[in-house]
Amino acid sequence: TKILRLILGDQLNSQHSWFSMIDDAVTYVMMEVRTETDYAQHHVQKVAGFFAAMRHFADNLQVQKHKVIYLKLTDKSNLQSFEANLNVILERDNYTHFEYQLPDEYRLDIMLKEFANQLLIPVQVFDTEHFFAARNELGDFFEGKKSFLMESFYRAMRKKHQILMEGNNPTTGQWNYDGDNRKKLPKTHKPIDPLVFNTDVSEIVNEMAKTNIKTIGTIDATNFIWPINRTQSLELLEFFVAECLPLFGSYQDAMSPNEWSLYHSRLSFSMNTKMISPLEVIQRAIMEWKDKPERIEYNQLEGFVRQIIGWREYMRGIYWLKMPEYATMNFFNHQEKLPHWFWTGKTKMNCLKDAINQSLHYAYAHHIQRLMVTGNFALLVGIHPDEVDAWYLGIYIDAIDWVEITNTRGMSQFADGGIVGTKPYVSSAAYIDKMSHYCGSCFYNKAKKVGDKACPFNSLYWNFYDRHEDQLAKNPRIGMMYNVWRKMKPEDKTALLQQADYYLKHLNEL
Ligand code: FAD
Ligand code: SF4
Repeated sequence: TKILRLILGDQLNSQHSWFSMIDDAVTYVMMEVRTETDYAQHHVQKVAGFFAAMRHFADNLQVQKHKVIYLKLTDKSNLQSFEANLNVILERDNYTHFEYQLPDEYRLDIMLKEFANQLLIPVQVFDTEHFFAARNELGDFFEGKKSFLMESFYRAMRKKHQILMEGNNPTTGQWNYDGDNRKKLPKTHKPIDPLVFNTDVSEIVNEMAKTNIKTIGTIDATNFIWPINRTQSLELLEFFVAECLPLFGSYQDAMSPNEWSLYHSRLSFSMNTKMISPLEVIQRAIMEWKDKPERIEYNQLEGFVRQIIGWREYMRGIYWLKMPEYATMNFFNHQEKLPHWFWTGKTKMNCLKDAINQSLHYAYAHHIQRLMVTGNFALLVGIHPDEVDAWYLGIYIDAIDWVEITNTRGMSQFADGGIVGTKPYVSSAAYIDKMSHYCGSCFYNKAKKVGDKACPFNSLYWNFYDRHEDQLAKNPRIGMMYNVWRKMKPEDKTALLQQADYYLKHLNEL
């Protein structure tokens, strides 16, 4: 028997049962291919981060005496797609079996199924042993139901896995602490400096340049900041529980100029590549809370656990339930293109300038920047969801289709018409000002709705509701807004719509 096992770039789970023993009959294959670097225009740190983590993973397997074939981007024999490389290797070395782990991406799932179907040797598929829920678990849970409430799925996951539970009841008697977790950062509060790494990835970046891979954003190639292996990922987890968890919940929705990660964990890349598991992340956080109850209040911990066994598992479940249709949904029939400053950060809007510049610089923005700044703006001005998806899929270090598309098309753009969210996440300047320190130093005036330097969010907000009245007015969570709109004086309405119209015609100059 000769078995070839494929490991994809986001399957770097060293704790997987595949690796529990050394087997001479098994060879692992990993490859850096153009089909992966080119399916979106990725951030340079994202491509470098994935390849660095893959190389490290392969080296580690070899140190443990596993047999590994690793195809680098610039290897002459690399045919630059999974299928082409696999065909050559399977035939050249006379493998008798082919095995792979369930991909998390629909695109790769179809590709590997089709590839496996045409093989003449037996094929076996394994679970990735990473997520709490199976692919179809959310679909089964909501079977026959019209709505897909995250909260009910989250509670079911807590019960099933007995996380922060006493029998069927939550440990503290309360499920949801969102109400405690929406604080603005006090003006004088200086958040902890994020832990970053200083890995040299210049070899990879040079190879990327040689092969003309088109990327976005910038990189300090000799001081790569993201974790690229399990040890660094665990170090980041330790830093998070010690320094960030005590204030995670309180400031999870806060924003501040030049503070690029606040109390967020920045563990999404480590988890999405499976260098660490969601279970160990949660267990470590719970242990810290148990050990240091005087430092960590329960609402901070619950806020964190909710993101991981709630939102993360939920989004994956929605993905497998609704793909491939999900990727084409466009509830509002939006058609605009993203303004060019999404790739340069050159806008006078302070909140957007900050969120975009830090995304280009770090390949990262935290959730509320993605949702309530860039996402909010794209939705208000009616950008086509394909455009929005491509931007988010490219720019973030943690962006993989299953979690990018559900968050972008679903949560942020409401292009799914309300599968993930119950109403569109849009706001005027008031919300951004409430949660951030951006408006004070902005070119625009947060308090002005029309006229010179009026904050664009204010008129665009009403324009959005006006434009989509047919689709939204019946939504019980929005009805109130329409009452306000209808009661407004006609001349005020006209002025707001004219202001919005001007901004919509000059998107590139904002
Ligand atoms: P923290 O704030 O520290 O949260 C802890 C963990 O919870 C995260 O690492 C993540 O694994 C999980 N989590 C939190 N919120 C979500 C969520 N809404 N969905 C799924 N998991 C969540 N997340 C990605 O991993 N990849 C993406 O491509 C992605 N694209 C997004 C696009 C948009 C428009 C929006 C609004 C959100 C997106 N998210 C995405 C979700 C979320 O913003 C990121 O997971 C988070 O910002 C990652 O940073 P962190 O690790 O510091 O998170
Ligand atoms: Fe953003 Fe408007 Fe505030 Fe400027 S005034 S930071 S554009 S919300």
